[in-house]
Amino acid sequence: MRTEPARGWLGPRQALVIGAGLSGSAVAHSLASRGWRVTVLDQADGVGAGASGLPVGLAAPHVSADDNVLSRITRAGVQATLQRAQALLQSGSDWALSGVLEHNLDGKRRLPNAPTQASSPPSSTPASATQIAAAGLPPGTPALWHAQAGWIRPRQLVTAQLQTPGVQVHWDQKVNTIARHGDEWAVLDAQGQTLGEAPLLVVASAFDSLALLQPLPGFAVPLNPLRGQVSFGHLSDLSATQTQALPPFPVNGHGSFISGVPTPDGQAAWFVGSTFERHCEQAPVRVEDHDANQVRLATLLPALGEAMKTQFGPDSIQGWAGLRCTLPNRLPAVGPIDAQGLPGLWICAGMGARGISLAVLCGELAAAWLDNEALPLPLDLVKHVWAERYVRS
Ligand SMILES: Cc1cc2nc3c(=O)[nH]c(=O)nc-3n(C[C@H](O)[C@H](O)[C@H](O)COP(=O)(O)OP(=O)(O)OC[C@H]3O[C@@H](n4cnc5c(N)ncnc54)[C@H](O)[C@@H]3O)c2cc1C
Repeated sequence: MRTEPARGWLGPRQALVIGAGLSGSAVAHSLASRGWRVTVLDQADGVGAGASGLPVGLAAPHVSADDNVLSRITRAGVQATLQRAQALLQSGSDWALSGVLEHNLDGKRRLPNAPTQASSPPSSTPASATQIAAAGLPPGTPALWHAQAGWIRPRQLVTAQLQTPGVQVHWDQKVNTIARHGDEWAVLDAQGQTLGEAPLLVVASAFDSLALLQPLPGFAVPLNPLRGQVSFGHLSDLSATQTQALPPFPVNGHGSFISGVPTPDGQAAWFVGSTFERHCEQAPVRVEDHDANQVRLATLLPALGEAMKTQFGPDSIQGWAGLRCTLPNRLPAVGPIDAQGLPGLWICAGMGARGISLAVLCGELAAAWLDNEALPLPLDLVKHVWAERYVRS
């Protein structure tokens, strides 16, 4: 942050949000829960058109020996997401506080040297011999256990957040241009028709935010696309041997493996992912990415990888691909783009590979800032996610 902008919102408590993914729905929920009137516009015809259409993902903390900025922010984010899931979602079908085993493959991941929460037991610990065995890993494999972690189906969270009283969603509304009309921000379609106006505009359209915001003077948030694919299959297609080899909890550390999660067709499935591909703005499902995910599984969980080989054939494997929106420091951008130059124009984007862990926290941060409440993060951490860190001086 150049200087700490004034907190609190003095205008009408009315907001327009572009994008109905994890970011936009989180901002909408946090504002509407505080009494704001919020309209969300999305170009798609329903939930899950962007990266938040991911069938399932993990909310799990990042740990480091010096408990660095990323570790502290993701821990706060995971906590906020799990609380939101507890409040809005159905445990077992929409999410699960399953715990996550992190296979510490190259031994790089280190638990904090000093306790992070003096009063409570640490939620991340070395994995026990029993947990390592349950994952199908050989005794002595370096691994961590994250107790405050689990899987979430992002579409379910988005849907629940958009159902907050005070939130109106309009689908099939592709925003082409952002313009200032008097004291309000207006968003226009390709024909120049006004789709909505409000004193506060929050752009939460992931990588597409760049095209909308780049024409504005001073905009310099360096958003990038990062394509990714998950591979999955139904549990009912597995043999008895394959079923016995499944770990009873998600495993991450080199991509991730999650099983027992319902798909929209009602069948439980297993999932492995994800690929990472820069400089790609399209997200078709690709055969070579299934191959890459098979190799990833063989590294993450070698015994399971061997057992599951037959499931990667073209007749059985299914896939989903999407575009993450990233920023160089792996942390998002939330808040005013330039409080002085562009008053009332905010962004919530750049969630990268951690939207499940970060979007709820970002929504709360935005709403708490606007309503001049206690912030959900200390100020020395807020400056690492605050969008104005990119203002050109
Ligand atoms: C393969 C893969 C695996 C992942 N795994 C995990 C994981 O395990 N854990 C985790 O935390 N995160 C994971 N992520 C990241 C997570 O999915 C994203 O960070 C998150 O979904 C981003 O949410 P968003 O709302 O910012 O963007 P999106 O979900 O992309 O939403 C943007 C919305 O904006 C709309 N939009 C775009 N342009 C316009 C416009 N001009 N007008 C109107 N609407 C517009 C789109 O239709 C879309 O609905 C993964 C991502 C991928 C791709």
